[in-house]
Amino acid sequence: MPQRSAHDDACAAKYLLRAFAAQISNSQDGLTADFRRKLHEGLLFGMALLLFWRVKNSRNGVSMQSVLSKHDIERIHWMTLSLLLPEGGVTAKYPDSDSCVEHLDAVRWQLGLYCPRCDARDIAPKSSRKTYRCRKCAYHFSATAQTFAHGANRNLLTYFLAAEDIIKRKATMSSFETIAAHDFKDRHGLAYETARRLLKLLKGELLLEDGGLIGRCICSKEINVPPDIELGGRDHFFWLLEALDA
Ligand SMILES: [Zn+2]
Repeated sequence: MPQRSAHDDACAAKYLLRAFAAQISNSQDGLTADFRRKLHEGLLFGMALLLFWRVKNSRNGVSMQSVLSKHDIERIHWMTLSLLLPEGGVTAKYPDSDSCVEHLDAVRWQLGLYCPRCDARDIAPKSSRKTYRCRKCAYHFSATAQTFAHGANRNLLTYFLAAEDIIKRKATMSSFETIAAHDFKDRHGLAYETARRLLKLLKGELLLEDGGLIGRCICSKEINVPPDIELGGRDHFFWLLEALDA
């Protein structure tokens, strides 16, 4: 069923009031002018009350219906990731690309090493070049192999910082706003094409469950949503808003 907006309600109320007022004005069966004026005033007050109620019951453009729009649900995703970012920011925890690769390595193979090419689990220990070798297909690979950051070991800190920036900004943006590649390029000191490609790549990865691999790497803090709050509902949305404001 389509959801009614405040505008729909206001239009419907106006239509009914006009029709009713016209009927009263046309009837001359004993109603005094004073009585008709008071009736008009009462109806206008009612309409104002209805509009006030609708405005009061919507905050930050979010409908107070129990079912949120897909944009609000996406915002829940970004706000959750933002709350999970480390205290003091990503650089406080991972100061350079080497520490980022080490961390990605630990997160990616949490459930055991496997070959990204053939899925075999018979893998030789990490070499001095910090790569693994699959004993089945002889593929040499590092933590970033076949991931969103394939071949970016030396620049992984840029990926981590860019992802942190995207999360923080998307968490506070309405569904009508987007991150401009021009702005993103300046913030991260990148060439325009690189910035545009990285922005698209990271946004796609971060929209996966738990923020994808990059999300699982940088969003490691714990948050406890009160058990009486239904996840994905409007109470969850407002709880996250308040938690981010705190
Ligand atoms: Zn293999």
